[in-house]
Amino acid sequence: MKTDIQIAQEATMLPIKEVTAKIGLTEDDLELYGKYKAKISNEYWNKIKDNEDGKLVLVTAINPTPAGEGKTTITVGLGQALGQLNKKAVIALREPSLGPCFGIKGGAAGGGYSQVVPMEDLNLHFTGDFHAITSANNLLAAMLDNHIQQGNVLGIDPNQIVWKRCVDINDRVLRNIIVGLGRKVDGTVREDHFVITVASEIMAILCLADDLADLKERLGKIIVAYTYDGKPVTAKDIQAVGSMAALLKDAIKPNVIQTLEHTIALVHGGPFANIAHGCNSVRATKTALKMADIVVTEAGFGADLGAEKFMDIKCRQAGLKPDCVVLVATVRALKYNGGVPKSELSEENLDALAKGIVNLEKHIENLQKFGVPVVVTLNSFITDTEAEYEYIKKFCEDRGCEFALAQVWEKGGKGGIDLANKVLETLENKESKFKPLYDTKLPIKEKIETVAKEIYGADGVNYSPEAQKAIAKIEDMGYGNLPVCMAKTQYSLSDDKDKLGRPEGFEISIRDVYISAGAGFVVVLTGNVMTMPGLPKHPAAYDIDVTDDGKITGLF
Ligand code: ADP
Ligand code: MG
Repeated sequence: MKTDIQIAQEATMLPIKEVTAKIGLTEDDLELYGKYKAKISNEYWNKIKDNEDGKLVLVTAINPTPAGEGKTTITVGLGQALGQLNKKAVIALREPSLGPCFGIKGGAAGGGYSQVVPMEDLNLHFTGDFHAITSANNLLAAMLDNHIQQGNVLGIDPNQIVWKRCVDINDRVLRNIIVGLGRKVDGTVREDHFVITVASEIMAILCLADDLADLKERLGKIIVAYTYDGKPVTAKDIQAVGSMAALLKDAIKPNVIQTLEHTIALVHGGPFANIAHGCNSVRATKTALKMADIVVTEAGFGADLGAEKFMDIKCRQAGLKPDCVVLVATVRALKYNGGVPKSELSEENLDALAKGIVNLEKHIENLQKFGVPVVVTLNSFITDTEAEYEYIKKFCEDRGCEFALAQVWEKGGKGGIDLANKVLETLENKESKFKPLYDTKLPIKEKIETVAKEIYGADGVNYSPEAQKAIAKIEDMGYGNLPVCMAKTQYSLSDDKDKLGRPEGFEISIRDVYISAGAGFVVVLTGNVMTMPGLPKHPAAYDIDVTDDGKITGLF
């Protein structure tokens, strides 16, 4: 069997200007980065911004196995299938981080015959957006430390600095560090921390900003520290907004590449799906909606995290309205949720399937709470059996849910025709009555409790003393009316990764809460969330190489 990178490298790409010409873009509408990558110019946005919006389809999933369940693969495959049916469809995805690419997960460009290309470029550097974000993040950090060094007029308490440096590499030794060692001219000694670039608030801001003006407004609101008397200090107070925005002026423009079947894909932004909202940029989604009749996009992790934040944060803030949700399940993940260990997922096991399918059931119920019609799709693996398919199909149909088997990994777009037709029927016949889950005007605790009870199925919520204090302070500071951004394990509906299936009789424990004022949400931490991953014993980096004539190998 061919690897993802082999399939990607064997594909014949078209020049990106030919791909985009199919829906009317001229060379002037693009800023080319070589032959196969481009950014979409601001002029093009101005030209199309009054077009009518296409339909928005979100791809999300049940609680995954540690290997991922193929959301990106299905998103790309569905886009390709719609293309085969002569629909004007555009895909909107996130950009991958170098962290997982050299770590454990490998690339994130889809898989099999449903990928976006050039996959090596996308996975390594791409158009430099993440470098720009890293630079802006670290410029702010440097200006903050310099402010303290140069007399500290604002009275910043070095023990209450909340802004962290970032780098887009999994590097555990940078989680907790000491900076400023040496002489007086070398700065103030203090404990500092690094996060991975995708966890930087600037990433979340770039992905939620409408345009450069909004970007600057949001950058200015970032809280970087507190003063000795407890007042917030912002990036605006540090006078860093203009220079950060200057570094980000191209990064805010959506990137365009193609799928293996030359479907247009806007790939832009990539915030963490735990401490941030986990969706591609608003700017790219809005551009795609103006360009196409149907836009297929993905949200990170399972639907309890990704879809909930897509709806309650991204769509609410940006005024977007999803028309249909595609819920991805796999036989493997359903068996995993039924208690089968990772090593035995390839064997038929109808008992485990019956036990694990309650996870799918809960996600269907959850998505219906947002008023958006749901199509369930099974991402087919070659180890699946006919009996397992039939069981799942019947389960969905008994619940009045559309169901389609997707073989897009194996067959590309033509393996997704059935799914595409179900989506088209849904867009035509079922009206979306989208509404967010909760009103942002509710007190913070009520918002948290709504998500915990309605989406996770918890009996209640308990708070650590730190979380209690933090919530009171955030409401005091006037940020009580923002949506909540839940950070929780993706493996379970609960906050315990071992409670699989559809857990009941549990409470959600809130460890801490903090404000991302620029992004415009309150981050709620359950358990420990890693914002700087480490490398595994055998990192993917061991196997990645480049030949003497510049061909990348070993990426997957
Ligand atoms: P997600 O977006 O849910 O994290 P991806 O689409 O990135 O998942 O897929 C994760 C990995 O699983 C990729 O390496 C991909 O090639 C592989 N994969 C996805 N679907 C299938 C399938 N049907 N059969 C075999 N491998 C698959
Ligand atoms: Mg993905």
